[in-house]
Amino acid sequence: MHEMSLVRTLLAQVGEIVSANGGAALRRVRVQVGPLAGVEPALMASAWKQLSAEAGCGDATLEIEEVPLVARCRGCDMDFQPLQFRFRCPSCGVPETDTISGDGVVLQCVVLDDIEQGAST
Ligand SMILES: [Zn+2]
Repeated sequence: MHEMSLVRTLLAQVGEIVSANGGAALRRVRVQVGPLAGVEPALMASAWKQLSAEAGCGDATLEIEEVPLVARCRGCDMDFQPLQFRFRCPSCGVPETDTISGDGVVLQCVVLDDIEQGAST
């Protein structure tokens, strides 16, 4: 399953952030998923449930934000949402575009609970 390997990659990324912060508890992870990522959010959520538990952060929540596909025209720099994956600029007709959002899974934010340095006292 495609989602399993994506979540594994994600957990490795998150794990680095966690250890850079002194092993604080992981609370929440938010990712943006675009239509070209080929991700089924429900499958990704269940992959997260399983793999985060194995990684010892089973209490952490994964938020999946589905974002639209956005392309930028190389001719006139206009951003547009390609319809039916037609990457041709609606303004100047140039077929050369760069995908600026929606082509993958992007780690957006990580929320840690800083137990070590908590300000509760
Ligand atoms: Zn253009």
